[in-house]
Amino acid sequence: MTNCLLCQSSTTVVGKKPGGRIKRNFTLLHCQTCGFYFVEDPELDFEKVYDEAYYDGRGADPLINYKHEIESFSTTVRNYEWRGITKFVESCLGKLDGLTWLDYGCGTGGLVRFCNENLPVKAHGFDQSSVTKEALIPVLSEADLEKYQGSFDVITAIEVIEHCIDPLAEFAKLRRLLKPGGLLFCTTGNTAPFETTILDWSYYVPDIHVSLFQPKTLKYCLEKSGFRAENHGFQPGFESIIRFKVLKSLKMSEMNILEKMVPWSIASRIVESKFKLSDFPVGRS
Ligand SMILES: [Zn+2]
Repeated sequence: MTNCLLCQSSTTVVGKKPGGRIKRNFTLLHCQTCGFYFVEDPELDFEKVYDEAYYDGRGADPLINYKHEIESFSTTVRNYEWRGITKFVESCLGKLDGLTWLDYGCGTGGLVRFCNENLPVKAHGFDQSSVTKEALIPVLSEADLEKYQGSFDVITAIEVIEHCIDPLAEFAKLRRLLKPGGLLFCTTGNTAPFETTILDWSYYVPDIHVSLFQPKTLKYCLEKSGFRAENHGFQPGFESIIRFKVLKSLKMSEMNILEKMVPWSIASRIVESKFKLSDFPVGRS
């Protein structure tokens, strides 16, 4: 049996599930010690999973459509997520003036563009895929990242870590990129409310989401990689992040008059009581 990829403890088999796009079964393992769930036999042909279709809503995650987000930059519901992320980061750091910001796993760069157009920060993007070739933002290459060690005040990794086959290597890399006192803010699905139903959990799509976390798992990774883990809870910003997630799951892509009538301050709290996304710690370098 494969040991836990994070803490090396023994694991148990949770079960098998077919991929969203890769039509074979994947085996999910669980570590009781650190709470990590991971795919034992992930798809390693990334071209097959993250192809053109993935980025325009025809891939393993049909709710992803980066093409639309470029074309409809000022009207996409993703504006709520961008607003929420930047508000949350501001609430953690106090102010944003002059900060350098890296969005790690930036896709087509919406958050970076939002930051550069609306905030007093200098934001860059990085993405392992070639989708950034369409991005209208400053994009760093893997070689650039080497030069930018210790350069960033803020790193965001929005729905990124669940895609990583070797999360500890990624966290160590992000730690090296941050300045002392910098902030790492990751968002990902929280397995904790779904422990008994994880194979049926819609977030668990095994060809793309190969590493699944709960708050104690993320805390373990952060501390193992040299971060201090800090809990900020349901800070300003989460209302807007959750608003985006709800609209996305309802397949609404544009902001509109109807959704604007929803009392989001209440609705987001109700959703959060089930999904517990703000229970995850942030990392401080
Ligand atoms: Zn473990």
